[in-house]
Amino acid sequence: MSKNFTCPHCGKKQEFKKTFTLSNSSRWRCSKCSTFLKAQQMSPYASVVGFLATGIPAYYLLFVRHTPFIVGMGIGALCGVLCYLLSLAYFYFTVKLEETDL
Ligand SMILES: [Zn+2]
Repeated sequence: MSKNFTCPHCGKKQEFKKTFTLSNSSRWRCSKCSTFLKAQQMSPYASVVGFLATGIPAYYLLFVRHTPFIVGMGIGALCGVLCYLLSLAYFYFTVKLEETDL
């Protein structure tokens, strides 16, 4: 069983939905022991990767393939959403949590 994304105090696995708003400044209480938790060192590149995953396909379709604007933006947004969901899953399985004061 993975120790990632679990409370370091009581070992409770934290809810997946916590990853939705996860950032270097995220703080929340463990639902079991009420310890304040935060994520250890998150990559500052995550948001850059998300931006590129949205921007590059949109740019390629719009300016290289001359795809209609609305189609290009739609596909760009879709790629962004997929990348976002993948990164949430990535955080859930790799990020370690630590106890913190508010
Ligand atoms: Zn706990």
